[in-house]
Amino acid sequence: MPKLDYLSITEAHELLQNKQITATELVNHYLGKIHNLNPKVRAVLTVCEKRALKKAKKIDKKIEDGEQIGLLEGIPYTAKDMFLTKGVRTTAASKILEEYTPPYSATAIRKLNKAGAILLAKVNQDEFAHGGSTENSAFNKTHNPWNTDYVPGGSSGGSAAAVASDFGIFSMGTDTGGSIRQPASYCGVTGLKPTYGLVSRYGVVSMASSFDCIGPITRSAEDAQIVLSEIAGKDQKDSTTIESDIYPHTKPVQSDLKLGLFSGGSTIEEIQHMLTQAGLSAEVSDKAEAIFADELSLAIYYILVPSEISSNLERYDGVRYGSASKDVSNLFELYAKTRGEFFGPEVKRRNMIGTYALSAGYYEAYYKKALQARTIIIDKFNDAFAGFDLLVGPTTLEPAFKIGAKADPIAMYKTDLLTVAANLAGLPAISIPCGIDEATGLPLGMQIIGRQGQDEQVLALADKLQKSTSWHEKVKELKL
Ligand code: GLN
Repeated sequence: MPKLDYLSITEAHELLQNKQITATELVNHYLGKIHNLNPKVRAVLTVCEKRALKKAKKIDKKIEDGEQIGLLEGIPYTAKDMFLTKGVRTTAASKILEEYTPPYSATAIRKLNKAGAILLAKVNQDEFAHGGSTENSAFNKTHNPWNTDYVPGGSSGGSAAAVASDFGIFSMGTDTGGSIRQPASYCGVTGLKPTYGLVSRYGVVSMASSFDCIGPITRSAEDAQIVLSEIAGKDQKDSTTIESDIYPHTKPVQSDLKLGLFSGGSTIEEIQHMLTQAGLSAEVSDKAEAIFADELSLAIYYILVPSEISSNLERYDGVRYGSASKDVSNLFELYAKTRGEFFGPEVKRRNMIGTYALSAGYYEAYYKKALQARTIIIDKFNDAFAGFDLLVGPTTLEPAFKIGAKADPIAMYKTDLLTVAANLAGLPAISIPCGIDEATGLPLGMQIIGRQGQDEQVLALADKLQKSTSWHEKVKELKL
């Protein structure tokens, strides 16, 4: 049997099409890996063994019959537990949805399913995606596969850890303020947050609807492009979606590309080195630096996002979805006890902050002001993009931290400094591995941010960097 570890989508596709391996063998290979290694990493919440094998069998029949298969056909993947999956338990890592099995699938999952990709497992995350370490999951903490004393990042920490551990070829994540890019950075893999509206949010558990983006976590920009081209596009069921003309193959980068550099943390040397290796250069952009320097984006984010959360999470009332408190004597008690019993502490905190910021006496002072200030961030990006095509800088201030190190919520929120701005402005952004931190041996990530709709430019630059350097290959050396 050919070597199956850390395959790319194209490699797996060729093995399948050339009959060097069957889809069933491929699925069994990953199920075996999950079985053996998940007890160490704890990325997986629910394995979909039966349906994965059933689907693989169908695809094998097609290949046996000499049919041509699509690029994603037979490609095993995992999905964050925010994605509704018909017939498969979907928890958002919350006790309130612990027993919830949805009657339909998210548009992104439906599209992947239609393209023939095989869902292997649902993976862990922070409860309702509130967090940056996956420590807020109501079920268990996930460990960073590079060093299990460390967090994998979050909130899509299960997805990033699964991709780094090779539990499937890619994973689907959600990014409201960095939850695809930050865990990708902490786990040495590639994470793409597309332009807001490029991928339908239909059937994905809502966090903050004007921020939430759906995207892939992969081991390369090339794979991210393949997945994005499949899931992107207008959806009747999500009125914020836009048309897509994303092509499955990465394009060459524009020849006279102007890159604006922003700093933060200690990763700047690694980034400059990587650009040089790829024959590129970047100029420090004061205007890009100014977007992050004053922490304004964090302040705005942590007013607007809890506000949208408190509104979105009203639906968990013990009547419509999931768990309900038993010992109640009236409707109000049902609401209060259900939410008190089944929401975790961070979810409660955000609901309280959001309700406060939206309440009659404080709406003008907090919510409305933050909404107005959101346009300042958009203006700042417009200013920065006046001189540059793409902005490059670190994804995070530091590499992954130890489990338990950021128990104080403010300390945790501060780790989002370099990622939330792209969500405030709806911009496409990717994180790719760009080095290893000497002190901890953990991966470092570089972020590339584009103008709205410039997803292909962002991916093209990431792809060029990955074709000329090998930081994204480091993950293949992991011995779990
Ligand atoms: N860490 C950020 C937060 O806790 C981002 C979360 C996300 O993108 N889902 O809000």
